[in-house]
Amino acid sequence: MPYIVALTGGIGSGKSTIAQAFAASGVEIIDADLIAREVVEPGTPALQAIQARYGTSIVTDEGKLDRSRLRDIIFQQPEEKSWLNALLHPLINARTRQLIAEATTPYVLWVVPLLVENQLQHQADRVLVVDVDEATQLARTRQRDHLSVAQAKRILAAQATRQQRLACADDIIDNSGEPDDALPQVAELHQRYLRLAATKQD
Ligand code: ATP
Repeated sequence: MPYIVALTGGIGSGKSTIAQAFAASGVEIIDADLIAREVVEPGTPALQAIQARYGTSIVTDEGKLDRSRLRDIIFQQPEEKSWLNALLHPLINARTRQLIAEATTPYVLWVVPLLVENQLQHQADRVLVVDVDEATQLARTRQRDHLSVAQAKRILAAQATRQQRLACADDIIDNSGEPDDALPQVAELHQRYLRLAATKQD
């Protein structure tokens, strides 16, 4: 089992950007968002269960999960979130474990946007937080996703605070500068994680 480094950060903090820099060093990336989508792909038992509960209109003409419709259902009936979590979390967890077990690099970078919110930090050997201040988060998210100030603030408010996230961090990448400013931090952490991974295997 490789050493597991969880990478998290608030919306627009730069998780994907930083993960790409680690990937360039040859580290295997395990993306929690991709896995969450994979378990409800057409033909999966989970999508069938969702369809059985909410009807055929929850699936698009192409047979895919209609996410905006599902979001509406949860908005109107918040208790449905528990049902969905009970269905999906074990599947996501099992697939994550499988991918980690199959990894061939000394450590894996497990990218989990909602690590702190879902209290998953104990499932990693080490927690790396990508950190920027909230004004930067807002500005970069708005620019990327073309959101109003109010929309971007609403998303931020639904997430863990910067302080809550930093309280879980073993390591922190400051991504407030130019994109290239983070690269030396990534290189240093990569060496640290290789050393820690070697210790774990001993
Ligand atoms: P999300 O949680 O929404 O998936 P994220 O944490 O993965 O976001 P990225 O998508 O990597 O964040 O970055 C958010 C935006 O900010 C992107 O448009 C990215 O190109 C830009 N960005 C990332 N790092 C920097 C930086 N150091 N300077 C300027 N822009 C940056």
